[in-house]
Amino acid sequence: MAVEVRSGFEAILEPCSELAEDVTYPSVKRWHENHPGGHVVGHFQVYFPEELIHAAGMLPVTLMGAGSRLEAKQADSHIGSFICSICRTSLELGFSGRVGFMDAFYTTPICDVARNLAGIWGRNFKGMTAEILYLPQNANGKGAVTYLRDEYGRVLAELERISGRPIEEADLRRSIGVYNENRRLLRDLYRIKRETPWLLATTEAYVLAKAGTVMPREEHNEILRSALAEIPNRTGRRQDRVRVVFEGGFCEQPPLDMLQLIEEACYIVDDDLLLGMRWIDQDVPQTGDPLFALAESYIERSTYSPVQHDDRKPKEEMLLRRVEESGAAAVILAAAKMCEPGLDEQVAYQKTLETKQIPFLLLDFEEKMTAFERMRMEVETFVESILFD
Ligand code: SF4
Repeated sequence: MAVEVRSGFEAILEPCSELAEDVTYPSVKRWHENHPGGHVVGHFQVYFPEELIHAAGMLPVTLMGAGSRLEAKQADSHIGSFICSICRTSLELGFSGRVGFMDAFYTTPICDVARNLAGIWGRNFKGMTAEILYLPQNANGKGAVTYLRDEYGRVLAELERISGRPIEEADLRRSIGVYNENRRLLRDLYRIKRETPWLLATTEAYVLAKAGTVMPREEHNEILRSALAEIPNRTGRRQDRVRVVFEGGFCEQPPLDMLQLIEEACYIVDDDLLLGMRWIDQDVPQTGDPLFALAESYIERSTYSPVQHDDRKPKEEMLLRRVEESGAAAVILAAAKMCEPGLDEQVAYQKTLETKQIPFLLLDFEEKMTAFERMRMEVETFVESILFD
């Protein structure tokens, strides 16, 4: 039987799709083989400045659960069943030894569950540093930036201890440059999704972006550059489909099959998926104190989500802006089951969309879902109700 050799965009996409579904972390193992004695630092979603890890010459890896590819057998005996799935399977990755390559693990206090994850991690995986990066509770406080700058400094000192080498300002500036480039490329990917969604499906953009969570950003930049160069050569044809914004993927990630079924009925022209890679939405300055520039970027250049509290960014208004800027006609308001911040915000979003008479569909999901028939019917009915209104 002839083996199909893929070329162009598909050849770039295929290994990224495999990585997105693989919980054995082959790219991290490859990195270790090429960097004997190198250190890997994991961090949980959402707002962690990977530049700190990268500047230390270590590999940052985002821990974001395991979807349906791992059953949380051991984790379930350590945390309540009412806890969101991403935390349970992330913990299972630890218990099963799959992320034993990590020298340190950081969480941020985005919610009670994430805050406690570092403690559970530290108690169960001895020898691995497990810490919390404390983000400012009040992003509008006068001292928020200087406080966070010092907090980043504290984490940096710990990373210096682990790596056994000093991290200079020049290292940080270089890393900021690499990540600025990565963010620019991801913004380009999203621009294409907004302007010509028939050339780039959300599931495709998703796996391309997700590859960056388990490899050095320089490598990821190469992948994104190649993919962006190939997209204009694709031959997708514009279809008469409803354009929607998908909101609710900021932390726990919906299954790819769920995104795919939505895309079979409409175009997803913007979303908050993989926010942990894209939370800074402009370039971080590469002049002055780099820690200050990163801290200021959390306050001044970061996107909204249910787990960031900033009076200057009312989330409902930010969602309306996302709808307007993407030219969407409707919103899919999703929330991960058991995610308190996500479910709370879903109610607030719902009220605003009702007031503005923007059609929306409420969905809830779990990363480990595998049956979608009911959801498929709901999405199809929703889209038809808009088309035939
Ligand atoms: S999914 Fe929600 S509850 Fe779970 S860690 Fe993320 S923000 Fe917290």
